[in-house]
Amino acid sequence: MKDNDCIFCKIVNGECPSYKIFENEYTLAFLDISKDTFGHTLVIPKKHFENVFECDDFYLQEVIKTTKLVANHYKNLGFKAVNILNASGKEAGQSVFHLHFHILPKMDATDFDAWPKFKNDAEDLESQWNKLKM
Ligand code: AMP
Ligand code: ZN
Repeated sequence: MKDNDCIFCKIVNGECPSYKIFENEYTLAFLDISKDTFGHTLVIPKKHFENVFECDDFYLQEVIKTTKLVANHYKNLGFKAVNILNASGKEAGQSVFHLHFHILPKMDATDFDAWPKFKNDAEDLESQWNKLKM
């Protein structure tokens, strides 16, 4: 996808509106349009990178710093906790191919489940470790 077809680049350059929560030279945080959970926020780099695989380290650091800043802001507003999520690649559920971290602020443990339990039937850890270690 070219940058000028990217909805988040359009938000960065003002072609598309957004509810901005925070902005600095390198990053932008704004409300997710879905209205699925209260305060669902996206944090993006102002430069186009598809996802974590290709984002340069400087911008990735800036994005995670802004994610921490916004998370602390929400805690100061009275939220108890946050889930911070990222999908990198369509198989992981990525639908907008401009890097973003989701911040889902939580008032209590039961308001929604952004951290589902899985079946715990993957192969044993030593076998996984032998295939995965760097
Ligand atoms: P993902 O599935 O991780 O790529 O998430 C993409 C997110 O972008 C979804 O939660 C969408 O609701 C959100 N989204 C798409 N378009 C916009 C937009 N124009 N403004 C704010 N959020 C958007
Ligand atoms: Zn973009």
